Amino acid sequence: TAKKLGRSRFCYFTPTMQQASESRLRLTNDLRHALIDQQIWVAYQPIVNLATGEIRKAEALIRWQHPTRGLVSPAEFIPIAEETGLITELGAWVFHQVAEQVSNWRIHHHDQFQISINKSPAQFHNIGHKLADWFEHLQRLGLPGGCIAVEITEGLLLDASSIVSDKLLAFKDAGMQTSLDDFGTGYSSLSYLKKYQIDFLKIDQNFVSNLSAGSTDMALCEAIIVMAHVLGMKVIAEGVETVEQRDLLLKAGCDYGQGYLFSKPLTAKAFEKLF
Ligand code: C2E
Ligand code: MG
Ligand code: MG
Ligand code: MG
Repeated sequence: TAKKLGRSRFCYFTPTMQQASESRLRLTNDLRHALIDQQIWVAYQPIVNLATGEIRKAEALIRWQHPTRGLVSPAEFIPIAEETGLITELGAWVFHQVAEQVSNWRIHHHDQFQISINKSPAQFHNIGHKLADWFEHLQRLGLPGGCIAVEITEGLLLDASSIVSDKLLAFKDAGMQTSLDDFGTGYSSLSYLKKYQIDFLKIDQNFVSNLSAGSTDMALCEAIIVMAHVLGMKVIAEGVETVEQRDLLLKAGCDYGQGYLFSKPLTAKAFEKLF
C-alpha cells in the first residue's frame, strides 16, 4: 500500500521502519538532483550588534525547496548528504555562493561585512586539501579571509590529534575567523577553549529561550559571557526571540544576538532591505 500511495502526503496507518527507510532512500535520490535542478539555496540570517543594532554579520543557512515535500530541514538532509558523500559538493557550492554574496555586500553595503558558514565535524575533517582552493578563490574576488567565519561544534575540539588544531591554525593564517556553534550542548573543557583561540562563541538557543531575570539560565548565560570574554572571544546569543531576552543579554554583556526578534533567515534579496 505504501507503494500505491506513492508520494501522497497522507498515510492513515503507522509508518513502519521499511517505509521510513524507503522515504529516506527517495530523499537521497532527490538530493542528488537538487543541486542541478537549483532546488538548493542559501538563506541569510542577520547577526546583530546588541549595543548598536548594527548588522555587519550574517549566518549562511542552507535550504532545500523540494518539489513535492516543500522545505526540507537541513537537520534532515545534511546527515544524508554526509552519508552519501554529497556533502562535499554541497559544501563547495555553499562556499562559492557565500563568497560571491559577501563580496557584493562588502562593495555595496559595508566593507567589513562577514558571513559565517557551518561545517559539520565530518566536513571539517575533509577540508584540508580544499583550504588552499578557498583562499585562492577569495583572493581572485579581492577578498580577505576575514570576510568568512567558519562555525564548528564543540565535539570537534575533543579530537586530541593535531589535525583539528592544524586546520584551525590554517584558518587563522588566512585571516578567517572561527565560531563555536551551539555552545553548551556538547562537551568542551576550558583547556580546549583556551588552546584553540576561537573568535566567537555562540550560546545555544536552549539557554536563551527561557531567559528571565534571576533564572538559572540567566546565571549560566552571564557565566558563559564572562568566561568567553576572559578567553578573548566575542559572544553571539542564538535564538533571541523577545525584547526581554535581548535586554537581559545586553545587560549581561553579550556582544551579538541572532534570532527571530531581529529576523528569520532570509533570501539574499530580502536581506538587503535590512541594510
Ligand atoms: P545552527 O547552525 O545552530 O543554526 C541555527 C538554527 O536556528 C537555524 O536552523 C536557524 O534557522 C534557527 N533559528 C534562528 N533563529 C531562531 C529563533 O529565534 N528561534 C528558533 N527556534 N530557531 C532559530 P536551520 O536553518 O534549520 O538549520 C539547522 C542546522 O542545520 C544549523 O544549526 C546547522 O547546524 C545546520 N546547517 C545549516 N546550513 C548548513 C550548511 O550549509 N552546512 C552544514 N554543514 N550545516 C548546515
Ligand atoms: Mg550555525
Ligand atoms: Mg547554532
Ligand atoms: Mg543548532
